[in-house]
Amino acid sequence: MAIVDGWLDWAVRHPGPANKVYVTPNEQRGLVCHSAEGYNPSNFHELDRPDRAASWHCTNSLDGTFYQHYPFSASCWASGNYEANTRFVAVESEGVVGVDGPLNTLQVDNMLRLVHDLPFFPVRKSTLWEHNEVATMWAPNAGPTSCPSHRYDPFFAALEDDFMSLLTPDQQRKLLLRLFAGSEFPGDTDQQKLDRAIAEIDAGGTVQSLNDVSLSAIAVALDAHPGIDTSAAVQARVKTALENAAKDL
Ligand SMILES: [Zn+2]
Repeated sequence: MAIVDGWLDWAVRHPGPANKVYVTPNEQRGLVCHSAEGYNPSNFHELDRPDRAASWHCTNSLDGTFYQHYPFSASCWASGNYEANTRFVAVESEGVVGVDGPLNTLQVDNMLRLVHDLPFFPVRKSTLWEHNEVATMWAPNAGPTSCPSHRYDPFFAALEDDFMSLLTPDQQRKLLLRLFAGSEFPGDTDQQKLDRAIAEIDAGGTVQSLNDVSLSAIAVALDAHPGIDTSAAVQARVKTALENAAKDL
């Protein structure tokens, strides 16, 4: 699954009006999550209306159909202000919070597929946002919103479980090397650095001796070395540090 010329090769194309975008191309530095608070017939009617200043890249349907309306290079009118709209891609999930509740499993699966394909690593409040978090971050803006009303919580939880799978083997390797930068010996090859990093973890005592950033490496190594014992508190710090370290992979 991939993005070809700005379009997902697995999404159903349902183009929106060509003029409902900014001239400025989208920087594609992140994703903003929205709740449509409605159902597709009316959602698509709003998208097509020339007199309604609203547009978005994708619609994540309750039945599992995933629509794309604009290429990701387009800057849609979705997230409440110019900066958010020209930096981030916008996805609307079909449904109404008071009726449908959180995203269903089909919608969560679609979101995971989406962030696997988008050209940035999904990190909450860095490259992955809720509409309410960016709506008033820049001015002028359209005012505060409660959107998406926690409807994406199951997706965020699934994303945590899916965290390592979002990294390619090469990215996992790069991350581990980056976290252990400084602990390698001069002249080591990458493979030697990697072997040394894993050996350090295997030797035990690493959790106490390494700084917060290097702790993140343990999370990477946990996948390959499930026997390593770390406390819940350490695990929590590992998760935060790992997310920070992964931001610009
Ligand atoms: Zn919204």
